[in-house]
Amino acid sequence: MRIAILADIHSNLEALEAVLGALSKTRIDRYVCVGDVVGYGADPAPCVAKVRELCDVVVAGNHDWAVAGKLSLEFFNSYAREAIGWTRSQLSPPDVAWLRELPLQHDIEGLATLVHSTVHNPAAFDYLLTSYDAHLSMAVLELPLCFVGHSHIPITFMEKGGLGFTFSDTIDLSKIDKAIINPGSIGQPRDENPAASYAIYDTAKRRVTLHRIAYDVAAASRKIEKAGLPKVLADRLHVGK
Ligand code: ZN
Repeated sequence: MRIAILADIHSNLEALEAVLGALSKTRIDRYVCVGDVVGYGADPAPCVAKVRELCDVVVAGNHDWAVAGKLSLEFFNSYAREAIGWTRSQLSPPDVAWLRELPLQHDIEGLATLVHSTVHNPAAFDYLLTSYDAHLSMAVLELPLCFVGHSHIPITFMEKGGLGFTFSDTIDLSKIDKAIINPGSIGQPRDENPAASYAIYDTAKRRVTLHRIAYDVAAASRKIEKAGLPKVLADRLHVGK
């Protein structure tokens, strides 16, 4: 089975469509999403519609729950807060209800755990950035593999004897005991590469590959400005920060 892992789409329809276009050229059996479908970008409703249609598992991101009124806005900076309020005004009540019902964590059939932030404290929406963060999550991770989002940085933490990390775009799972993989962000990459980032998990080959696809950043950026959202949210897409 080949599973596409989508993360941190953030209402960026241009980026999402580029990723789905690339995925349509290869065999994909199922699509899953590790959260933050909305927030920051100008197309929340079309992005929610596409994710609802395609993904059979979606876990909650902090922006998803904030838009649904399930997470306090005090945890967000002023730009994010402004975008969250605007996003709520753009979504239908059924879409908001769908966001509210997203689970924090989901295990896909003994294969992998999906969670937006960390396995050790998913409700806190902390960032999994360091080997120590990864160690805390590995300790409670029951399955050999986990996909996270949230930091918008594609990275793999892995355990084999000791704990290490890699920025490699190909992860051979047969060579490691446990891995926590962030596929990177589709709609707002923050590793100074503006191209949309996603992953494919090939269960037969026991291999995860990370991919980048350029998209029309200028169009997504213009829409953010036109919507009256903070300009910084439009500008950062160009530099991938
Ligand atoms: Zn995010």
